[in-house]
Amino acid sequence: MSFNPFETVRETINTSPVVSDEVKYTTCYMCACRCGIKVHLKGDEVRYIEGNKDHPVNQGVLCAKGSAGIMQHYSPARLTKPLKRTGPRGSGEFKEIEWDEALDTATEWLSDIRKTDPKKLAFFTGRDQSQALTGFWASQFGTPNHAAHGGFCSVNMAAAGLYTIGGSFWEFGEPDWEHTKYFLMFGVAEDHDSNPIKIGLGKLKTRGAKFVSVNPVKTGYSAIADEWIGIRPGTDGLLIMAIIHELLKANRIDLGYLVRYTNAPWLVIRDDGAGDHGLFARDDEGRPLAWNKAANSLAPAAATDIAPALVGEFELADGKRAVPAFQLLAERYLDAQYNPDAVADRCGISAAVIRRLAAELAQVAFKETVELDVAWTDWAGRRHDKMIGRPVAMHAMRGISAHSNGFHTCRALHILQILIGSIDVPGGFRYKPPFPRPAPATGKARGQGASNRPGNTNAWSSARLPDGPRGPASRTGRVGAAD
Ligand code: SF4
Repeated sequence: MSFNPFETVRETINTSPVVSDEVKYTTCYMCACRCGIKVHLKGDEVRYIEGNKDHPVNQGVLCAKGSAGIMQHYSPARLTKPLKRTGPRGSGEFKEIEWDEALDTATEWLSDIRKTDPKKLAFFTGRDQSQALTGFWASQFGTPNHAAHGGFCSVNMAAAGLYTIGGSFWEFGEPDWEHTKYFLMFGVAEDHDSNPIKIGLGKLKTRGAKFVSVNPVKTGYSAIADEWIGIRPGTDGLLIMAIIHELLKANRIDLGYLVRYTNAPWLVIRDDGAGDHGLFARDDEGRPLAWNKAANSLAPAAATDIAPALVGEFELADGKRAVPAFQLLAERYLDAQYNPDAVADRCGISAAVIRRLAAELAQVAFKETVELDVAWTDWAGRRHDKMIGRPVAMHAMRGISAHSNGFHTCRALHILQILIGSIDVPGGFRYKPPFPRPAPATGKARGQGASNRPGNTNAWSSARLPDGPRGPASRTGRVGAAD
């Protein structure tokens, strides 16, 4: 009989010692991914944190920060009581006080403006899991001026996404990791959507999909990218617009997708200097209009039995001129200022690379489509035998948001996704429920309370109404430009 050293080790080493007498299931919030975790307790003490294999976000993976979550409870630096400043501001002199004293002090500070004008309170909180509670508190106080960590991080991106496609990256949706063949990532650090992205990148690498990372530094995700584009900080929007320029020039646009799922055909009034210049043209009932090529006439844009024009200039009933929203977009981005040669120096990326990126996106989107034998019904009740996907997925985060142009950079990125038809399709970006929201959102800002009265509780509750004041854009779930 031969000697097997591993058998001996197996007999003597217990690799799964019992470290706890109770396990609690919750989510990690050492970053905002909210990975599922199992917290092992012995007595009343946290002994160990492990990833929850059954949780869909992380499937058992736990990063180093997640493991360190134990220090949230046991760090000697943890605050356990309110601190009252005792010295001059900036002196760092504080003393611990009891909660009763802290609450009395806060009430004394706040009661006057709640009686007179509650919106004078600007209430900022950090990144934690209690924003539902702190937001509710702000609305009950009567102030709409409530923001949390995101206000300093990436809310401009989320706002751009919600305004353009009714959702954004990360919590709102994610790449279809199973089917995408080309993944373009902008400005993402490893603490953002960490475990889900690592798991997703592992899938892409296994399948041989191309991963391109646009980021000024080649660390983290960029270090394992198939191609790293070392862009000059703050110029991502310019790069995206140059890619759009190239796609428009090469006629590599999913026109069918634009007609079916966006408001690209909606007519926009062109009457320089007039009050309604730039607004959507509407009929007497307030419905946005399109030009029906089949009948050579105006028609409600939401009608599903028309052939809407995407380009051209048309006459409205009152004699004014109007053009489809897509035409305005094409005119804007075909301008020479977005030619790769014109942006290359500012982006720090050669025009040849920009052109190649655009060509690669187009190649994968239009020549390497994904077809799933899954029948489905679209927003207009039309039946489709298959799901046809443009397998180009994109993701972006704080690297593009932390600039004064973050909103428009993100908006341009979503427009790029729309133009190649890669939103909510196999291989593209796919929403997670309850997104997409109506675009633009129909909710009122929360707060706006009168003196000593609570305000509206939640902007989202009204945003979810099926029939918002903007009309068909809300009813159809269409995405695209907003008026
Ligand atoms: S990625 Fe790490 S820190 Fe973030 S929630 Fe998951 S385990 Fe926690």
